Amino acid sequence: MIIIKDPSNLQLYLSKYRQNGEKIGFVPTMGALHEGHVELVRQASSSADIIICSIFVNPTQFNDPRDFEKYPITLEQDIIALEAAHTDILFLPSVSQLYPNGTIKLEKYELGYLETILEGFYRPGHFQGVCQVMRRLLDAVKPDLLFMGQKDYQQCMVVKKLMELMKYDTQLITCPTVRETDGLAMSSRNKRLNKQERDNAIGIYKALSQIKENSGRASVEQVKKEALKILEQHHFKVDYVEIAGADTLEILKEWNKQQKHVALIAAFQGDVRLIDNMAINS
Ligand code: AMP
Repeated sequence: MIIIKDPSNLQLYLSKYRQNGEKIGFVPTMGALHEGHVELVRQASSSADIIICSIFVNPTQFNDPRDFEKYPITLEQDIIALEAAHTDILFLPSVSQLYPNGTIKLEKYELGYLETILEGFYRPGHFQGVCQVMRRLLDAVKPDLLFMGQKDYQQCMVVKKLMELMKYDTQLITCPTVRETDGLAMSSRNKRLNKQERDNAIGIYKALSQIKENSGRASVEQVKKEALKILEQHHFKVDYVEIAGADTLEILKEWNKQQKHVALIAAFQGDVRLIDNMAINS
C-alpha cells in the first residue's frame, strides 16, 4: 500500500491505471477503522481493480466542535488494517490540502427535503459538510465505484443526490451494516463508550429489532413508543425514533404494505451520539 497526501499527486498516480482501463474503487472514511470499514474495503476488492481508502476527519461536517475534538484517531492501527485488507492506496490529505481556500464560506448544495429531516434536522449543516468533503474527495479520486455503509443510511442518500447534482458517473454501492456479536452496529464512536455505556448501547439494536418484529401489528405510533421505552430503559437520551419510506425517507404515519420501510434511531449514550437503522417490512 502506498500513502499519498497530495490530491494532485493522487490524480497523477491514478491516471496510468485509468488509461489502462482499470476500475477504481473508493472507500472514504474518517479513520479509527473497525471491521465495518474493512468489510467495505473487501467489497471494493471484489469488484474493482485498484482500491483506494481515504482517512480524513472532515471538520466541516461536525456541527458540534467537541465531537470533532474527541473524534478517535488511530492511524498506525488503521494502516495495519488497510494493508491486511490489501488496500492499494491510502489517501491521507491534510485539511489545507483538501480545503486550500479554508473551511469557511464554502459552497452550498441544494439537498431539499433530505436536509430537513432526521440527521439533517438534528445536525444542522452536517450534510452540507458531507457534500463539501465528498465533492473534494470524488474530484481527487474520480472513482468508478464508491463504497459506503448502510449504517449511515441518510448519508448514502445525500451522497447519491450530490452525485446526481454534480453529474458524476460514479456508481454508489451501499454495503450492509457490520455489527458486534451482540448486535451493536460497529462505529468509531463506540471507542468512546465506557463499560457501562457499552453495555447500555445494545438498547438501540433491541429497539430496532422490536420495531421490525412488531411492524404492522400495532400502530406506527405505538411501535415507536415501545422502542422509545426500550431506549430509555437503557439510559439513552433520544434524538429520534422514526420509521420512514426506505427509498424516500418520508416519515411514516401508517403502515403501507406497498412500500419498503426503514427504522432509524439517533440517541446519546453519555455524551456519545450513536445512530443505527434497520430495514423492516410491514
Ligand atoms: P466513517 O469513518 O464513520 O465516516 O465511515 C466511513 C464509511 O464506513 C461510511 O460509508 C460508513 O457508512 C461506513 N461504516 C461505518 N460503520 C459501518 C458499519 N458498522 N458497517 C458497515 N459500514 C460502516
